[in-house]
Amino acid sequence: MARYHIETYGCTANRGESRTIERRLRDGGHRPADGPAEADVAILNTCTVVEKTERNMLRRAEELEAEAGDLVVTGCMALAQGEAFAEAGVDADVVHWEEVPAAAMNGECPTTTPDAEPVLDGVIGILPIARGCMSDCSYCITKRATGRIDSPTVEENVEKARALVHAGAKELRITGQDTGVYGWDRNQGESLLPELLSRICDIDGDFRVRVGMANPKGVHGVREDLADVFATNETIYNFLHAPVQSGSDDVLTDMRRQHEVEEFREVVDTFDDRLEEWTLSTDFIVGFPTETDADHELSMNLLSEVRPEKINVTRFSKRPGTDAAEMKGLGGTVKKERSKAMSELKREVVAEAHESMVGERREVLAVRPGTGDSVKCRDGAYRQVIVQDAEARGVAPGDTLEVEVTAHETMYVFGRPV
Ligand code: SF4
Repeated sequence: MARYHIETYGCTANRGESRTIERRLRDGGHRPADGPAEADVAILNTCTVVEKTERNMLRRAEELEAEAGDLVVTGCMALAQGEAFAEAGVDADVVHWEEVPAAAMNGECPTTTPDAEPVLDGVIGILPIARGCMSDCSYCITKRATGRIDSPTVEENVEKARALVHAGAKELRITGQDTGVYGWDRNQGESLLPELLSRICDIDGDFRVRVGMANPKGVHGVREDLADVFATNETIYNFLHAPVQSGSDDVLTDMRRQHEVEEFREVVDTFDDRLEEWTLSTDFIVGFPTETDADHELSMNLLSEVRPEKINVTRFSKRPGTDAAEMKGLGGTVKKERSKAMSELKREVVAEAHESMVGERREVLAVRPGTGDSVKCRDGAYRQVIVQDAEARGVAPGDTLEVEVTAHETMYVFGRPV
């Protein structure tokens, strides 16, 4: 669990993005700090309207870098002049708004609190299915607070899912620190996730299911059953978030990640075999203390090979009290160079995937209001499609519609209702 400090400059849209970031951090179990000096990570959401603002942003970034454990810069200036921070000697992760929560979490899993109850947020129902995990990653400060997996029964979770659907949830988000090991404590070390999903899909109602973060080890043991449940139930978005963190088995061992690269590949191959179209989302930690140049190359090669459409790249930073914090770290320049190289490769891979969608027609579910008069929608593989002029077009969260993809951006595509 990290403590964060967030500062927002500029317009209403920026403030809205900050609220979304905060909500996702809090959903992930992270808490606001009493000012930057108390924070594990500071987040600077920038504006770049006039030159004076830019100078102020750079100065504020320098101050926050000195005060907080770690700095993430986002917002308009990060997008338009991201290189200005590095040129001014500021050591920060410069990222798009959407990527801030992952960058702030530093490779850790989202946390659910002991009393985590289902929440209905607009038409999105959030269902925590278990608390805790079965790992002991050397860089994680969350584990100590949450402990080993503690899974309610399948029946209990199905009842909570049913209540959310009856309350109006159109998108049910199955969450947990590691959804892939749900049930290990009840079922002799074998995941009950496929059974739970299949039972949830039997609930009467018009809704979709998104499966949250699942580490490769837990998924590997049930990969065939899980891919089959996805394939036979249209209700489930064809989307899997399995954070590999490194393409090197040596680094994975030092991270105490439990899986090997080959097991991750086997998960990907199984989903490739059984699903016509699906989205792989994964995470990489760049610059772990024991990562060599050759290890970094292995991560780059893995990314090129499996081509995930959603990728979180986190530059490693030490969290006090973790075993990884005791390891002799790499220099800031090495970490920066590796993170830059991987972020560039990521942009190429993601742009290629989004570009290939332009001109296609897709059925999407509108899930949330977006910036200005837009609505965020999801297609069957959980790709984000933005529909603009939503009010004039009569599109609101909860609606299902067909769109033609007209253009793409770094993180999403734009769609026009047809
Ligand atoms: S799986 Fe690893 S990173 Fe995630 S909560 Fe458990 S110990 Fe932490």
